[in-house]
Amino acid sequence: MIELRQLSKHYRAARSVAWPMTRQWVRAVDEVSFSIAPGESVGLVGESGSGKSTLGQMLLGLTAPTSGSVLLDGRQLPQGRAAVAALRGQAQAVFQDPYDALSPRQTVRAILTEPVRHLQRHTRDELEGLAVRALERVGLHARDLDRYPHQFSGGQRQRIGIARAISVRPRFIVLDEPVSALDVSIQAQVINLLMEIRREQGIAYLFISHNLAIVEHSCERVVVLYLGKVMEIVPTAALHVAPLHPYTRALIEAIPVPDPARVQGGSLLAGDMPDPANPPSGCRFHTRCPMALDACRLAAPELTEHGANHWIACHRRTELTPVSDPARVTATAP
Ligand code: SF4
Repeated sequence: MIELRQLSKHYRAARSVAWPMTRQWVRAVDEVSFSIAPGESVGLVGESGSGKSTLGQMLLGLTAPTSGSVLLDGRQLPQGRAAVAALRGQAQAVFQDPYDALSPRQTVRAILTEPVRHLQRHTRDELEGLAVRALERVGLHARDLDRYPHQFSGGQRQRIGIARAISVRPRFIVLDEPVSALDVSIQAQVINLLMEIRREQGIAYLFISHNLAIVEHSCERVVVLYLGKVMEIVPTAALHVAPLHPYTRALIEAIPVPDPARVQGGSLLAGDMPDPANPPSGCRFHTRCPMALDACRLAAPELTEHGANHWIACHRRTELTPVSDPARVTATAP
């Protein structure tokens, strides 16, 4: 349904103060390609600064790509305001912070009916009925329609954000860290709600998260991003058994296991992510990769098929092994 082809976003950085005073480019997203089928849930994971949110914004038409294209049902989307207009009825978003995502000046009624009013023709009573149904679907009540966002808890606000997204009956939702600002006790409720809605309505999700355990619980495939480049595309079922890219392994092995008897092991990532304005040559992960060779510094690896629906960008892909402790993936899923 949605296809990204060689999608890139480069931002102009401030001019260097050192000689030579060259203008630098931050390669937030660099030639990313993958697709999302109708009703499919695809996870997008990576550390902060890997380009996940920029990619989500380009999918929604909120940020124009520097190069490459987004196709919807095989047709290339126009760019800029035209892209937003073309996508408005088909794609929606749920953002990370439910405190910022809702206007404090609007009642829940206005928040839920305004998007529908712009996109579809309805009478006042029909709009009210749609708003009530969306609200009840996320576990809130018709009596909440006249309340303001500050009168709700964080979890309830995120439910209102979800109700707003589903109120226009979209085919596709970008979930940008939808639970990371919520209490752990609420996260499972919100994720289960999102999964129920997907099953009922057949909506496709791009689930952006830095938490592989949550993505593993919610998605059929995972796209692993590092410094704007795709390192791996892997079915979540294969996270337990398939040989994994060193970066994906490191992300999994960094997940703490809530068991004091287990020793934290594996190859934890050392250091910070390099500056995206000056990314490492060759494989972008080579400065932190425990398997790096000289060849990794010289040439960037191609994303190559490594099994059914499994793609890896690594020069040493034939030597990769499954993660040593599969319990680590599921241990902290909410
Ligand atoms: Fe590590 Fe080299 Fe593979 Fe990059 S290409 S992940 S540096 S082994």
